[in-house]
Amino acid sequence: DTKREVKPDWLKIPFRKTGHSEEVEKLLKDLGLNTVCDEANCPNRGECFSKKRATFMILGSICTRNCTFCNVSKGEPGHVDPMEPVNIGKAIKEMKMKHVVITSVTRDDLPDGGSGHFAKVIEEIKKRDTDVIVEVLIPDFEGSYEDLKTVVEANPHIINHNLETVPELYDEVRPMAEYERSLELLKRVKGMDPEIYTKSGIMLGLGEKKHQVLKVLEDLKNVGCDFVTIGQYLRPSQNHHEVVEFVHPDVFEEYRLIALDMGFKYVASSPFVRSSYNAEEALGK
Ligand code: SF4
Ligand code: SF4
Repeated sequence: DTKREVKPDWLKIPFRKTGHSEEVEKLLKDLGLNTVCDEANCPNRGECFSKKRATFMILGSICTRNCTFCNVSKGEPGHVDPMEPVNIGKAIKEMKMKHVVITSVTRDDLPDGGSGHFAKVIEEIKKRDTDVIVEVLIPDFEGSYEDLKTVVEANPHIINHNLETVPELYDEVRPMAEYERSLELLKRVKGMDPEIYTKSGIMLGLGEKKHQVLKVLEDLKNVGCDFVTIGQYLRPSQNHHEVVEFVHPDVFEEYRLIALDMGFKYVASSPFVRSSYNAEEALGK
């Protein structure tokens, strides 16, 4: 039903490119780095790149999972670039970033799920810049305690793991993930190191019901999650999950106030919010 996918006014923004954005794109290309901004075709690129913010995607650009909302290529991933941690460290220093977000495709094919590579990236960033805030958006490592520990011990400031949607929609949206396993990951981080902030997010518009969203917020609160992001799902192509609803900005605001009332330290909830959008705001920057 294409009619239903005609975007409402609040989702129409002009895409602006700026000098900075070209500079960032060139640097990323020269160092052979992937960003989720490009891979996910994120609508905020003009704004983020112009402010010298980007989210790096490590461990290649091909994912072993098959989430139906996601624009990342799926299939057999290639080899892991051993120079990637150093190159990311250099790029972040050069871009003078103050808050970096590092994420990855899911690498169920690697024995450690790529956790060791995550740790190296964190190390290379911190080595070059002791002030930079490092946020990692990690996969579930198939529930491995050891792999998660490897990342936690590299001591990032924020560990983000998105629930993406309500558990009732996992089969059609995140078929290879498990809601309880993802919640458990967030809980374990706090158990391993309570100093690390935890963060999670969901998309709206996939067919979820209000009471289901409220239950997700409650579940996140119960595992000690600090920060929450809620944004509108946009369909990357006709081959992806349909947009069931364009949720009105007032509803996003309602969820934001409810979540703040529940005691989350920071909540970003509006149609354009992405997991990494204005990430530094959570720490009051
Ligand atoms: Fe990149 Fe995140 Fe900004 Fe989108 S919101 S452009 S993914 S940093
Ligand atoms: Fe996309 Fe992540 Fe799902 Fe892979 S695991 S398909 S990168 S959302």
